[in-house]
Amino acid sequence: MSAQTSKSSPPEVDMACCTLCMGCLEVCPEVFSFNEAAEFIEVAELKSYPEDKLREAINICPRNCISRPGSDT
Ligand code: SF4
Repeated sequence: MSAQTSKSSPPEVDMACCTLCMGCLEVCPEVFSFNEAAEFIEVAELKSYPEDKLREAINICPRNCISRPGSDT
């Protein structure tokens, strides 16, 4: 039996198009962070994700690099 049936699925950042503008970090720092060593946007592993802030981050991303697998939005 899986307890991982939350509708809140982790976002994914497509680093091929990310410009490291840090916009997502500004609106949703609890999920997105900058991995300085490897220079990519890291997504935190949370039990549930703040939907409003995630949507804001997706909207603010200038390159549309943030997606939500398992979600239609
Ligand atoms: S907002 Fe988009 S382009 Fe900017 S750092 Fe986040 S994922 Fe990358």
